[in-house]
Order: sequence, then structure tokens, then C-alpha cells
Amino acid sequence: MAPGAAPEAALYVVATPIGNLGDITLRACEVLRRVSWVAAEDTRHTAPLLRHIGSPARLLAAHEHNEEEAAERIIAHLRQNEAVALVSDAGTPAISDPGARIVARVRAAGLRIIPLPGPCAAAAALSASGFSAPHWLFYGFLPTREKQLEKALAELRALPYALVFYEAPHRIVATVRAMEKVFGGVRRIVLAREISKLFETIHSAPLAEAITWLEAEETRQKGEFVLLLDTPGAEEKAEDGAETEKNERVLRLLVSSGLPLKQAVALTQEIAGGSRNALYARALELKP
Ligand code: SAM
Repeated sequence: MAPGAAPEAALYVVATPIGNLGDITLRACEVLRRVSWVAAEDTRHTAPLLRHIGSPARLLAAHEHNEEEAAERIIAHLRQNEAVALVSDAGTPAISDPGARIVARVRAAGLRIIPLPGPCAAAAALSASGFSAPHWLFYGFLPTREKQLEKALAELRALPYALVFYEAPHRIVATVRAMEKVFGGVRRIVLAREISKLFETIHSAPLAEAITWLEAEETRQKGEFVLLLDTPGAEEKAEDGAETEKNERVLRLLVSSGLPLKQAVALTQEIAGGSRNALYARALELKP
């Protein structure tokens, strides 16, 4: 965009701060000041940001319950040669936030989409994790019900990727407990809390120690969290390999016979040995 020029009539997907207002980019400020419209997840939340940076743009609502309708309004503005910015409450739109359906509709209408890179909690947490895995998987929010949560984790257990999750404070203890149950105590977790805010904490520990750490002070369970799990270590993989060979047939038989999972796991352990956590994770996968 040339200085002073009206921005091209496109949908600008603009990342906004996840805590610290200073993290807004120069380009985000420039675009937000010069577009005609800002489509926001929550207009009441975005209005102070626009005031703060001196943007006169008009706001329109674009949340998860009106994405189709918002897309139509945005397309109409773009066709009148007006530039529109899309923002969510925090971070990058469409990353565990509304926006993807709007972008798809605007693209299908043959109109231009311009992303403005910026804050994203997953990327910030990963950058401070110290994990050196070349590949990582962004999962976002896990299911909240215990059975679905454990099943979702069991499906991820053997993947050779670092895993990145978003979690709400009231779920943090239950989720970390389920992670320990399914992944065992050896796997390393990083709890990245309140990134870029006053009480930012980034704590790294084996899963076996994470709950004790969280429960040692109630404030450690407060705020917004990114949870990261490292790739399976050599020890964990070797243990898994041996167990899989020894136990697979027994466990398969017992699970398919309809035995409750806990009983199938206990019996397999009795007959063929192995780690309860690994057997339980596998039983969750095998469950019809
Ligand atoms: N679109 C956002 C992004 O780009 O990261 C994510 C939005 S999602 C609705 C909100 C979740 O992101 C929170 O529940 C938390 O898991 C994570 N999150 C957002 N801000 C955070 C922060 N400052 N520190 C840690 N996690 C954060």
C-alpha cells in the first residue's frame, strides 16, 4: 500500500495482539486506520483497539453464528471498491477463531484476500518451548468430555510430532491429568500461560510432575493456556514397540469381546505384562 493511498479493495485478514497491545504490527495499524470497514468477532471488544490506534473505520459483526451473513455484507462492500479488515478478539483470525468461512466465501466470489501476519498464541508458545521437533501439529481445543478427550489423545499418542493445544483455565487440570493417563509420565509438557501479559509463565516438566506443579499454587491454573507436548522419546518408543508386539493380540481379543476397557487392560497386563498407560491408550484406539 503506497503511503496516503486508499488501500486496495481486498479482505485484509489482520492478526491482533493476544495480550500486549505493543504486539500489533505497523502494517496492521496502517491497514486498520485506512480500511472503510472492520469485520470483528466482537465489535465491543475491537472498538477500544480501533480508538487506541486512531482508526475511524466502521465496525460490522462477524462471529461464529453469522459468518455466512457477514460474508455477504463483506462481499457487497468489496464490490463497491471498499477495503475491509477481518479481526478476531485476539490473535490470528481463523486459528481456533471465526473467519475461515468468511475467507472461503470471499475467495469463491473471486475477490482478493490479503493476510497480515502477527500474533498467534500457538506460534509464540512453540517459539519459547525449546522443542526441536522439525514437525508439529496444531490441535487447538480438545474435547471436554472425559471419554472423547482420552480417545482424542490416544489417537495422537504415537505421532512423531510436537503437539500444540489450546485450553481454558477451568479445564487445565483435567486435561493435563488425561494427558498423563494416556501419554504416561515421561513425555515432556510445556505450559505456556498468559503469553505477553503481566503474569506470563512458561513451565516445562515431565507429565508426571505437571499436576503437582499446577496444584502447588492456585494462580498457576489461571489465565489463558497453550499446552505443548514433545515428541515421544526413545525410551517411550522402545517401550511401546515391545508392548505392542507382546500385547496387541491379547488386548484386541479382550476389547473385541466387549470387556470394559479397564478390565481388558488389567487382564492384558496380567497375561502379557506392559505399561498400563500404553495399554489403556491402545485400548481406547481399539474400542469399536
Ligand atoms: N486466534 C487466536 C490465536 O491466533 O492464537 C486463538 C483464539 S482461541 C479462541 C483462544 C485460546 O488461545 C485461549 O483459550 C488460549 O488457549 C490461547 N491463547 C490466547 N491468548 C493467549 C495468551 N496470551 N497466552 C496463552 N494462550 C493464549
